[in-house]
Amino acid sequence: MTKKELLRGLPKIDEVLKQESLVVLSEEKGDLMVTEAVRAVIAGLRASILDLSDKKAEEFDASALEIEAVAEAAEAKVLRDEELNLYPLINATGTILHTNLGRAPLCRDAVENVARVSKGYSDLEYNVPKGKRGSRHDLVGDLIAELTGAEDAMVVNNNAAATMIVLATIGAGKEIVVSRGELVEIGGAFRIPDIMRQSGAYLQEVGTSNKTKASDYESAIITKQQAEEAKLNMDPRGGMRFETGALMKVHKSNYDIVGFTEEASLEELVEIGRKYDLPVIFDMGNGLMLDMSAYGLNEPNIPASLATGIDVMLFSGDKLLGGPQAGIIVGKKKYIKAMKKHPLARAMRVDKMTFAALEATLMKYRDPKVALRDIPVLNMISASGEEMRAKAERLADAIKRVNPALSLELVPVEDQIGGGSAPMVRLPGWAVSVKDGMKSADRTERKLRKAEVPVVARINEDRLLLCVRTIAEDELETVAEALRK
Ligand SMILES: *Cc1c(COP(=O)(O)O)cnc(C)c1O
Repeated sequence: MTKKELLRGLPKIDEVLKQESLVVLSEEKGDLMVTEAVRAVIAGLRASILDLSDKKAEEFDASALEIEAVAEAAEAKVLRDEELNLYPLINATGTILHTNLGRAPLCRDAVENVARVSKGYSDLEYNVPKGKRGSRHDLVGDLIAELTGAEDAMVVNNNAAATMIVLATIGAGKEIVVSRGELVEIGGAFRIPDIMRQSGAYLQEVGTSNKTKASDYESAIITKQQAEEAKLNMDPRGGMRFETGALMKVHKSNYDIVGFTEEASLEELVEIGRKYDLPVIFDMGNGLMLDMSAYGLNEPNIPASLATGIDVMLFSGDKLLGGPQAGIIVGKKKYIKAMKKHPLARAMRVDKMTFAALEATLMKYRDPKVALRDIPVLNMISASGEEMRAKAERLADAIKRVNPALSLELVPVEDQIGGGSAPMVRLPGWAVSVKDGMKSADRTERKLRKAEVPVVARINEDRLLLCVRTIAEDELETVAEALRK
């Protein structure tokens, strides 16, 4: 056909929309989207016809212009345009709290509770027995108190928000004493000194990068009277001083200082705090609730840290606690109460979905055995070498069934906690190493990422590794499927 004939052969939008498949689709997705898709398909065809040489026009397959073909293409476009940008994938890196991959996966009960609570109305801010307004802050306060020994608790958006509201409430216009060895950057431009400035508190650094003694904190304390006097006798080189508002310890979550080092313990800070009537704040970060030293994790845990007498402690919900993104503040009632009244509390409050996931996750901690079994993060940390070797064998078998041409090998690996937690901990794990003929590891890695359910693997010395610690049992077949020829 000539180009003119082809152009004349293009169907009209209205004709295509009468196709049964598109009538049904319009009812489901709305007619605007379907009409737009038909218009786009026809416009695309017109543009490609206009681009043809006369010779190519003769060879053009005119069946693409038929009404049914255009309707089919439009339907495919509608479905393609509907694909969501946030979707699940499989983590085969062996890094448990992978920040890029959404940190902690939720336990099943947390997921079910989110659906149960958020599909309709809930008692988020309503006291049902009393028939009057309630507070969302009361939803998990008692449970957290029971589990941690804290007097009270408050939940905000994440630990960065928690740091901000703690400092703004306790430290605005005052000095907060922090060790130079703990002026942490967590990543993504979250630096303790910057947050401190934003909160209106003044950072008073003490000690050196590698050594800070308890006495360094004590000698940095300034009383209100001293601060006034300092203002009167301002030394032009000295600068302004303010009264001390709190002593703060920041857990070295994502780095370690080794060698000639010293740091003040929580107990020592609590003692100084008592002596000067100053609160002690501990940004503990990782949210570890149980003693996991039996699994190689020698990190402070929440109840043990609180038992030292800390006044305010804060941590993330989606690191080692294994729950939703949240910042949890626990401690003495008088401070938590002031934070709940702070104007920032409204800006940082969390949604019912977060409370639903958090409460169901926390409930597991009533029995540590249940927490270790049901909370994915803890379950992955505590998985034994034999369990993981057996899982790697099951994965290799599944891959062999799908693609017998691949060379597979079971190899021991070192997995990590990740998410800026316990950077020095290496968990002995197992992986399936995959070699696809002469193809490079990079090429196989790309193939895995392009699968229907993408699989993110680890590459080590040009070896493609599927680390089984972070692959759920019911994902093994899907990983194998991604390697189909
Ligand atoms: C992770 C971490 C933060 C930041 O927590 P987010 O929940 O990511 O906002 C702050 N402080 C410490 C010590 C941390 O480990």
